[in-house]
Amino acid sequence: MTADSDPSLPVIEHPDAIRVRVQEWQRKGERVGLVPTMGALHEGHLSLMRAAKAECDRLVVTIFVNPAQFGPNEDLSRYPRPFTRDVELCQAEGVDVIFHPQPATMYPEGHATTVTTGGCSRLWEGAHRTGHFDGVTTVVLKLFLIVPADIAYFGLKDYQQQLLIRRMCTDLNVPIEIRSCPTVREPDGLALSSRNVFLSPDERQRALQLSDTLQWAEEQVSSGRDDIAAIRAELQHRLQQADGVILDYVTIADAGTLEELDTPREQMVALIAAKVGNTRLIDNRVISLERR
Ligand code: AMP
Repeated sequence: MTADSDPSLPVIEHPDAIRVRVQEWQRKGERVGLVPTMGALHEGHLSLMRAAKAECDRLVVTIFVNPAQFGPNEDLSRYPRPFTRDVELCQAEGVDVIFHPQPATMYPEGHATTVTTGGCSRLWEGAHRTGHFDGVTTVVLKLFLIVPADIAYFGLKDYQQQLLIRRMCTDLNVPIEIRSCPTVREPDGLALSSRNVFLSPDERQRALQLSDTLQWAEEQVSSGRDDIAAIRAELQHRLQQADGVILDYVTIADAGTLEELDTPREQMVALIAAKVGNTRLIDNRVISLERR
């Protein structure tokens, strides 16, 4: 680990400036970790930073609310942007530099090239948010080219996203290792999300039905049930009845392909997306038969 950390955390907006800095570190043999975020940082983001600090010499955090991954009727304009607080949190975690580009820098006039995702991108989040994963993978690939880190850290909270980023790196020979880190939750089970600030106290209480129901599904499998189709149907029924929750989807899928399952597999994932009030939340739970 390096001891010469700057007391004031640099915020860099220009791609060339950050790339040069990263390359300088790497020339000295330092290992660079990257945590891409949209800001509005919480303990989930901080856990990724801590994972990166534990195995890298240098840590770059990117803060960029990526317009390309929001649909026309989604919450781009109201997405929280508490930038000063984010910088303070990064400083407290020992981040070496923040990359904070302007949208016009990332998508200059005439921008016409994007990543097209295949595979599981047509399912679940991809089916409900047209173009979302193309927007995510395009910006992540751009960030990987601007910040040619050794290891990049993503949260399992966005389960399908981390699968598709791994797929992209394999398919396009991106020389960056991907780490997927556990979902950080509130003590009562609610998955941390930058969007949780939009929940009223009442909605927050209702939102617990998402994590509670996923936990129930895992308990059913852990206790020996093999009738995945029936558990899935029960999950759907519970959430369709749930007070103040408008369900987009809930399923139990193969953890690698995200194909919906009727019968058990070694590694499964229960996935959910629902609106609580005006706030759309996602959550998931990996269910492993090995743990039975
Ligand atoms: P976002 O700022 O929402 O784009 O998230 C940036 C990164 O933080 C992504 O890799 C997310 O999966 C991850 N992340 C978001 N929420 C959590 C959480 N509760 N626990 C762990 N990682 C998270």
